[in-house]
Amino acid sequence: MFNTRSQRRLSFVLPHLNQAATRARNIYDTRYPDGFDWQISEGLRDQARQNELVSIGASKTTDSRHITGHAIDVAMFDKNGTYIKTVTEDDYCRIAECMKAAAKEYAIAIVWGAVWDRDIRDLRPPFMAEIEAYKKRREDAGKKAFIDGVHFELSKREYP
Ligand SMILES: [Zn+2]
Repeated sequence: MFNTRSQRRLSFVLPHLNQAATRARNIYDTRYPDGFDWQISEGLRDQARQNELVSIGASKTTDSRHITGHAIDVAMFDKNGTYIKTVTEDDYCRIAECMKAAAKEYAIAIVWGAVWDRDIRDLRPPFMAEIEAYKKRREDAGKKAFIDGVHFELSKREYP
Protein backbone atom coordinates (compact mmCIF):
# COMPACT_ATOMS: atom_id res chain seq x y z
CA MET A 1 0.00 0.00 0.00
CA PHE A 2 1.04 3.57 -0.58
CA ASN A 3 1.34 5.70 2.52
CA THR A 4 -0.78 8.82 2.97
CA ARG A 5 1.99 11.08 1.68
CA SER A 6 2.16 9.10 -1.57
CA GLN A 7 -1.63 9.06 -1.89
CA ARG A 8 -1.70 12.82 -1.43
CA ARG A 9 0.99 13.27 -4.11
CA LEU A 10 -0.99 11.03 -6.46
CA SER A 11 -4.14 13.07 -5.87
CA PHE A 12 -2.47 16.02 -7.67
CA VAL A 13 -1.48 14.14 -10.83
CA LEU A 14 -3.78 13.10 -13.66
CA PRO A 15 -6.31 10.46 -12.54
CA HIS A 16 -5.09 7.84 -15.04
CA LEU A 17 -1.57 8.08 -13.67
CA ASN A 18 -2.87 7.81 -10.11
CA GLN A 19 -4.95 4.79 -11.11
CA ALA A 20 -2.05 3.00 -12.84
CA ALA A 21 0.43 3.65 -10.03
CA THR A 22 -1.99 2.49 -7.35
CA ARG A 23 -2.73 -0.68 -9.28
CA ALA A 24 0.98 -1.25 -9.95
CA ARG A 25 1.67 -1.07 -6.23
CA ASN A 26 -1.02 -3.71 -5.57
CA ILE A 27 0.44 -5.99 -8.24
CA TYR A 28 3.95 -5.50 -6.84
CA ASP A 29 2.84 -6.35 -3.30
CA THR A 30 1.29 -9.57 -4.57
CA ARG A 31 4.27 -10.55 -6.74
CA TYR A 32 6.98 -9.51 -4.29
CA PRO A 33 5.68 -9.86 -0.72
CA ASP A 34 9.25 -9.36 0.53
CA GLY A 35 9.99 -6.56 -1.91
CA PHE A 36 10.67 -2.89 -1.33
CA ASP A 37 8.25 -0.49 0.21
CA TRP A 38 8.26 1.86 -2.78
CA GLN A 39 6.46 5.15 -2.57
CA ILE A 40 5.79 8.25 -4.66
CA SER A 41 8.64 10.69 -4.09
CA GLU A 42 7.60 13.31 -6.64
CA GLY A 43 4.39 14.12 -8.44
CA LEU A 44 3.23 17.57 -9.42
CA ARG A 45 6.06 20.10 -9.33
CA ASP A 46 6.07 23.86 -9.67
CA GLN A 47 8.40 25.61 -12.10
CA ALA A 48 10.71 26.86 -9.32
CA ARG A 49 11.27 23.33 -8.03
CA GLN A 50 11.87 22.09 -11.59
CA ASN A 51 14.45 24.81 -12.24
CA GLU A 52 16.16 23.91 -8.96
CA LEU A 53 16.38 20.23 -9.99
CA VAL A 54 17.90 21.18 -13.34
CA SER A 55 20.46 23.41 -11.60
CA ILE A 56 21.65 20.51 -9.42
CA GLY A 57 21.68 18.09 -12.38
CA ALA A 58 18.78 15.95 -11.12
CA SER A 59 16.67 16.74 -14.16
CA LYS A 60 17.54 17.50 -17.76
CA THR A 61 14.69 19.76 -18.72
CA THR A 62 12.90 22.85 -17.46
CA ASP A 63 9.93 21.63 -19.50
CA SER A 64 9.12 18.60 -17.35
CA ARG A 65 5.96 16.50 -17.42
CA HIS A 66 5.92 16.86 -13.62
CA ILE A 67 4.86 20.50 -13.96
CA THR A 68 1.60 19.50 -15.65
CA GLY A 69 0.81 16.53 -13.41
CA HIS A 70 1.69 13.97 -16.10
CA ALA A 71 4.62 12.36 -14.24
CA ILE A 72 5.63 10.68 -11.01
CA ASP A 73 8.89 9.46 -9.50
CA VAL A 74 9.11 6.52 -7.14
CA ALA A 75 11.53 5.89 -4.28
CA MET A 76 12.31 2.68 -2.44
CA PHE A 77 12.48 2.05 1.28
CA ASP A 78 13.65 -0.91 3.32
CA LYS A 79 11.67 -2.71 5.99
CA ASN A 80 12.69 -0.11 8.59
CA GLY A 81 11.44 2.76 6.47
CA THR A 82 14.93 3.89 5.51
CA TYR A 83 15.30 5.43 2.07
CA ILE A 84 17.45 3.21 -0.15
CA LYS A 85 19.81 5.30 -2.26
CA THR A 86 21.62 2.44 -3.93
CA VAL A 87 18.82 0.78 -5.84
CA THR A 88 19.83 -1.25 -8.85
CA GLU A 89 18.34 -1.17 -12.32
CA ASP A 90 16.88 -4.60 -11.52
CA ASP A 91 14.92 -3.01 -8.68
CA TYR A 92 13.49 -0.40 -11.03
CA CYS A 93 12.66 -3.12 -13.52
CA ARG A 94 10.43 -4.95 -11.03
CA ILE A 95 8.39 -1.82 -10.44
CA ALA A 96 8.27 -1.08 -14.18
CA GLU A 97 7.00 -4.58 -14.92
CA CYS A 98 4.17 -4.05 -12.45
CA MET A 99 3.47 -0.62 -13.97
CA LYS A 100 3.24 -2.30 -17.37
CA ALA A 101 0.74 -4.85 -16.04
CA ALA A 102 -1.40 -2.05 -14.59
CA ALA A 103 -1.13 0.01 -17.79
CA LYS A 104 -2.30 -2.96 -19.85
CA GLU A 105 -5.15 -3.73 -17.48
CA TYR A 106 -6.52 -0.17 -17.67
CA ALA A 107 -5.38 0.60 -21.24
CA ILE A 108 -3.30 3.60 -20.12
CA ALA A 109 -0.35 4.76 -22.25
CA ILE A 110 2.65 5.16 -19.93
CA VAL A 111 6.29 5.84 -20.72
CA TRP A 112 9.07 4.75 -18.38
CA GLY A 113 12.11 6.99 -17.85
CA ALA A 114 14.49 4.12 -18.60
CA VAL A 115 13.11 3.52 -22.12
CA TRP A 116 11.81 6.89 -23.31
CA ASP A 117 10.96 5.91 -26.88
CA ARG A 118 8.47 3.12 -26.14
CA ASP A 119 5.05 2.71 -24.54
CA ILE A 120 5.65 0.62 -21.41
CA ARG A 121 3.00 -1.84 -22.61
CA ASP A 122 5.25 -2.73 -25.56
CA LEU A 123 8.25 -3.66 -23.41
CA ARG A 124 9.09 -7.35 -23.00
CA PRO A 125 10.88 -8.98 -20.09
CA PRO A 126 13.64 -8.93 -19.12
CA PHE A 127 13.35 -5.15 -18.83
CA MET A 128 17.12 -4.89 -18.32
CA ALA A 129 17.50 -5.98 -21.95
CA GLU A 130 14.99 -3.28 -22.97
CA ILE A 131 17.17 -0.66 -21.22
CA GLU A 132 20.24 -1.94 -23.06
CA ALA A 133 18.37 -1.89 -26.37
CA TYR A 134 17.27 1.69 -25.69
CA LYS A 135 20.86 2.73 -24.90
CA LYS A 136 21.94 1.16 -28.19
CA ARG A 137 19.24 3.00 -30.17
CA ARG A 138 20.39 6.29 -28.66
CA GLU A 139 24.03 5.48 -29.31
CA ASP A 140 23.25 4.59 -32.92
CA ALA A 141 21.50 7.96 -33.25
CA GLY A 142 24.60 9.68 -31.85
CA LYS A 143 22.73 10.72 -28.72
CA LYS A 144 23.21 10.16 -25.02
CA ALA A 145 20.77 7.96 -23.13
CA PHE A 146 19.34 9.52 -20.00
CA ILE A 147 18.18 6.60 -17.83
CA ASP A 148 15.69 7.74 -15.19
CA GLY A 149 14.35 4.45 -13.85
CA VAL A 150 12.30 6.04 -11.07
CA HIS A 151 10.28 8.18 -13.49
CA PHE A 152 6.95 7.25 -15.09
CA GLU A 153 4.79 9.53 -17.19
CA LEU A 154 1.65 9.49 -19.29
CA SER A 155 2.52 9.19 -22.98
CA LYS A 156 2.87 12.58 -24.70
CA ARG A 157 1.09 11.24 -27.75
CA GLU A 158 -2.04 10.09 -25.91
CA TYR A 159 -1.88 12.67 -23.12
CA PRO A 160 -0.43 15.83 -24.68
ZN1 LIG B 1 10.49 12.34 -12.82
